[in-house]
Amino acid sequence: MRSAYVDTNRGQVVVQAGATNGIVSDVMAPFNVAISQGRCPTVGIAGLTLGGGFGYSARSFGLTCDHLIETTMVCADGSIKVCNKDSEPDLFWACRGGGGGNFGINTSFTYAVREVSNVSVFQIHWQGVNACKAMLAAFQAIMPSAPDEFSVRIGITVNAAGAEPLATVNGQLFGSVSELTEILAPALSAAAPADQDIKEMTYWQGKDFLADLEGPSCYAERSRYVTDPLPSEAIEVIFDRLAQWPGGGSATAKLFSWGGAISRIPRDATAFVHRDALFLASFSVGWPTQTPSDGAQTELEWLNLTFDAFLLYTVAESYQNFIDPALIDWQTAYYGENLERLMSIKAVYDPTDFFQFSQGIPLPVGQRESSIVALEHPTWWKNPRGSTAVAPTISYLS
Ligand SMILES: Cc1cc2nc3c(=O)[nH]c(=O)nc-3n(C[C@H](O)[C@H](O)[C@H](O)COP(=O)(O)OP(=O)(O)OC[C@H]3O[C@@H](n4cnc5c(N)ncnc54)[C@H](O)[C@@H]3O)c2cc1C
Repeated sequence: MRSAYVDTNRGQVVVQAGATNGIVSDVMAPFNVAISQGRCPTVGIAGLTLGGGFGYSARSFGLTCDHLIETTMVCADGSIKVCNKDSEPDLFWACRGGGGGNFGINTSFTYAVREVSNVSVFQIHWQGVNACKAMLAAFQAIMPSAPDEFSVRIGITVNAAGAEPLATVNGQLFGSVSELTEILAPALSAAAPADQDIKEMTYWQGKDFLADLEGPSCYAERSRYVTDPLPSEAIEVIFDRLAQWPGGGSATAKLFSWGGAISRIPRDATAFVHRDALFLASFSVGWPTQTPSDGAQTELEWLNLTFDAFLLYTVAESYQNFIDPALIDWQTAYYGENLERLMSIKAVYDPTDFFQFSQGIPLPVGQRESSIVALEHPTWWKNPRGSTAVAPTISYLS
C-alpha cells in the first residue's frame, strides 16, 4: 500500500500508509507542493507522521503531523475509522504525535500541502575543537531570533579516538542567498570554515542537496529537547565527551533547530507535546556490522554516559520518533502532560491492549489487570509468519 496522489483542487496529498518519504516527495514534486518531511527518503510516512515528523521545512510549515487533516485506521476490534477534526476527533488528536503502533493500523493519510518554489541551501564544515566550539556558540545566538524560514542541522562528529571533531552544518532558507548569508554571518565570522557551499535552487533540488542517502548501519541515538541557548559549560560538556569517545565507528553530537511554526501550536492541541523547544539535541554512535558485541557495548556505554552528562542542560522531553530503549522516563519524556489523555483514548479504542510494544501507550492503571482477563484477540489474528494464532506477550509497567 504505497500509492499517493495530489488533489490539486483541495490542496491535499493523499498517501497510503506503506509509502516512504521518497515516494511522497516524487508524487508532490511535479505540482510544486510539499509537506514537512525528514531528509531520509527511506523513512516511512506512517511512523514519521504518527510520532511528529520534522525536517528542514518544519519551522515554516510545522511538523508532518501538523499537515495531517485526515487518516483512516483499522482498530483493534476490526472496525475501520475515518479520523479527522469532526469524526473520531480524539483518535485524530492521538494520531498527531501519539506515536505509531499504539491505537490501530493507519491505512491512509491526507495532508494539506504548501506551495513551494525556490530555496537557498547550505552545507558548511568546521574542523577542529576551537572552530567547532565557536561555531556552536554562534548558533546559540542566531537561533532565538532566526526567521521561521531558516532551519539548520548541526552535527559534530569524531570517527577515530582522539581525532579532531568535524562539524557538518546544513540547512535551508525560504529566501535568497544574500539573506541566508546574512543569517549565517555570525557563525561564519566566529571561526573560519573548512569549506562552504551556499546556493539557491528549486525546493526539490534542495531536498536532494540535503538528503541523507546513507545505507543501513548499526546505530543508536538518544535525544532530549533544549529550550534555551546552550551555555558555554554545556558546549564544554559536548566536546569533553567527544574527546572521551573510545573509538570504533563514529560518534556525533547533533542539534536540530526547532521552534517557528512548530511552537505556535499549543502543547495540548495535538498529542505532540514538544512545542516550546529551541533545539532537539541528540547524541549518536554508529559501529560497523562486524563489530563484536563487546565493542558495540562500549559504544552504548559512552552514549549513555554522554546523555547523562548533558541532561542538566535539557528539559525532560525526548523525541518519540527517536525511540530510545534506554530511556527510563519514556512515558513522560515522549508525551508529557498529554500522556493521560492518550491513555484514556487507548482505553476507548484498544481496551484489550491489542496493539502493544515495550514503549507503547499503556492502558489507564485501573484497566490494566482487567485487560489481562479480557485479553481475547479476534480469531483472525494470526502470527504473520504462520497460521497459528498467537497472542502478543503481555508486559505492563509497574
Ligand atoms: C535513517 C533515518 C532517518 C530519520 N530521519 C528523520 C527525520 O529527518 N525527521 C524525523 O522526524 N524523523 C526521522 N527519523 C525517525 C523516524 O521518524 C522514525 O524512525 C519513524 O518511526 C519511522 O517510521 P517508519 O514507518 O519508517 O518506521 P517503522 O519502524 O515501520 O514504524 C515506527 C512505529 O510506527 C508503527 N507503525 C508503522 N506503520 C504504521 C501504520 N501504518 N499504522 C500504525 N502504526 C504504524 C510501527 O509499529 C512502529 O511502532 C529517521 C529515522 C531513520 C532510521
